[in-house]
Amino acid sequence: MVMTTSDKSSRMRLAQLQRAMLACTRCDALVRCRTRVVPGAGAAAAAVAFVGIAPGRFGGDRTGVPFSGDRSGTLLRAMIAAAGLRRVFITNLVRCNPRDGRGRNRDPLAAEIANCRSHLEAELALVRPKLVVCLGRITWLHLAGREAAFDPAGAAVVRAGRWLLYPMYHPAYVNRGAYPVQCYARDFARLRSALQGLGRGDFAAAGGGAGRIAIR
Ligand code: SF4
Repeated sequence: MVMTTSDKSSRMRLAQLQRAMLACTRCDALVRCRTRVVPGAGAAAAAVAFVGIAPGRFGGDRTGVPFSGDRSGTLLRAMIAAAGLRRVFITNLVRCNPRDGRGRNRDPLAAEIANCRSHLEAELALVRPKLVVCLGRITWLHLAGREAAFDPAGAAVVRAGRWLLYPMYHPAYVNRGAYPVQCYARDFARLRSALQGLGRGDFAAAGGGAGRIAIR
């Protein structure tokens, strides 16, 4: 792929933005338990952005790169490669690893997700993905809202503001045996088809709720 002047500018602005994120101290509890701030990583501009929940203590918190170095990252990246997805950006709702009192991963609080929302929005604004894949129910809830059912099997795209959102299971859900890995691979193949459909402009508003889009 030929990198345009606009792409180079986006990459430089993204790097600048993310350097500023590294000093963020908005969440008191996360500042105390994180090893580092973990900004998103990948292509700018991107065809697709994957948004998880938070860096894991054995993954991004250790490596500095979201979805790397742990089982969730290994599975997600294997699925992306097997599906032949290109120009991928990977990030999270929050950029710091949340831990409970015993040092285990915990879900981020709603206030922590709200604190980090502008960082996510700023990343996505520069990366400009055609589709934003929400990995897991928590991410879906916060980006698509309560009215839109989390339904990876239905795989309907939902428009939320300027973004087209696409539901998928979080790789940790698959790793713990709650969803078959073969089905996950099929879901990634379907995501690739959805992206191709968007590339052709081959989509339309569908029934079943405001903002829902059908990929043909
Ligand atoms: S989670 Fe986000 S908002 Fe909170 S301290 Fe980390 S970078 Fe800042």
